[in-house]
Amino acid sequence: MSQDIPYKIYLKENEIPDKWYNVRADMKNKPAPLLNPGTHEPLKLEELEPIFCTELAKQELDDTTPYFDIPAEIQSFYKMYRPSPVVRAYCLEKALGTPAHIYYKFEGNNTSGSHKLNSAIAQAYYAKQQGLKGVTTETGAGQWGTALSMACAYFGIDCKVFMVKVSYEQKPFRREVMRTYGASITPSPSMETDIGRKINEEFPGTTGSLGCAISEAVETAVKNPGYRYVLGSVLSQVLLHQSVIGLEAKAALDKYGIKPDIIIGCAGGGSNLGGLIAPFAGQMLRGEENYRIIAVEPASCPSLTRGKYIYDFCDTGKVTPLAKMYTLGSGYIPAPNHAGGLRYHGMSTVISQLYDDGYLEATTAKQTEVFEAATKFARTEGILPAPESSHAIKVAIDEAMKCKETGEEKNILFGLTGTGYFDLVAYKNYNDGTMENYLPTDEEIAASLAKCPQV
Ligand SMILES: *Cc1c(COP(=O)(O)O)cnc(C)c1O
Repeated sequence: MSQDIPYKIYLKENEIPDKWYNVRADMKNKPAPLLNPGTHEPLKLEELEPIFCTELAKQELDDTTPYFDIPAEIQSFYKMYRPSPVVRAYCLEKALGTPAHIYYKFEGNNTSGSHKLNSAIAQAYYAKQQGLKGVTTETGAGQWGTALSMACAYFGIDCKVFMVKVSYEQKPFRREVMRTYGASITPSPSMETDIGRKINEEFPGTTGSLGCAISEAVETAVKNPGYRYVLGSVLSQVLLHQSVIGLEAKAALDKYGIKPDIIIGCAGGGSNLGGLIAPFAGQMLRGEENYRIIAVEPASCPSLTRGKYIYDFCDTGKVTPLAKMYTLGSGYIPAPNHAGGLRYHGMSTVISQLYDDGYLEATTAKQTEVFEAATKFARTEGILPAPESSHAIKVAIDEAMKCKETGEEKNILFGLTGTGYFDLVAYKNYNDGTMENYLPTDEEIAASLAKCPQV
């Protein structure tokens, strides 16, 4: 085994990117515009401003500017936990007996435990700049709420989090981390908003969904002066901020002349994947290089692989703009036994368009397979991975095993988006052998898609 490549490739502090890269600028087929749900006309900045911070709304609508300067205050916050390392998974390779070289970009080295902090700090910064009192948001598994709480505490603004009820109950300790950073947490669907009360009435006892928590957070932002809504995934602005992952990864690999043959990311709303692949996809779009890019989604929430590429609402309560994306229908709620995260019904418009244009592949993983891969990874590489990240681990291992058969020394890069310390109920189910796989039927998906708006 050659050791000339270090276990961990770190950039120097002054090599952290000072610009985010907007992959949309290099896309010939731009992602379809967000539409006003009433008129079906493309949304204008003025229509986004009551919901989003103005600067973030501008980033959302900008599909031509390739680079955005990262403001100095965000750069200095990044220095607290960045650069994140690219790690050569020597021990995993050895355990698998594969000739493949496996690398992962590790984003779990901060208290929130995931990549979400990269965008949280940017969004809190722009809210502060605008003189706002605070922000509202939703959180599913809790990583985004935690990241945003940290970011809001840093800039001294208020943070109201609607947390999907099933996670609120399964992860009481997440809640306490957020409260420690000063956020207020409400289980969703709640009785605090019109949409929450309506969803509770229509689906009594529902364990909630991300889409439904989004509706509550948007309603709360719009009804409270000095508040705006922020979102931790899906939006193009979030992919823009997350490009720091890919820019760092590429710079680190370039130092050692390593070109990844395969790049793998888990896909919930598409933000870590979009961030990781950004500079690589940019090269592909400009016709400079080719990579095999694989998005991995849960078999129980398969938007790219089994959804449709159509206009849909971004939330269950149908208060958000319409986005053209691969979707399972905004009313789709994954089975309550689904423990692996990545529960969102849709997909980033950028990832959707790149997928539709053939720049990336998509595949699914069942949750027991995901936890099997997570366990193998924990036992070899030492890090307890988040279930979400473990979707990417699963496919990285599969690809490495294919190399074992063919003898190919491929370079595999995957995104290790976070740690799994708050997912121990899911690990317990797996360890107890009580974890089950649930695959939605075609009829269920078709019934959910039938309720999408006609555009
Ligand atoms: C939120 C999250 C994801 C999925 O979100 P994307 O927007 O698809 O990246 C993946 N991994 C971790 C650890 C997360 O917290």
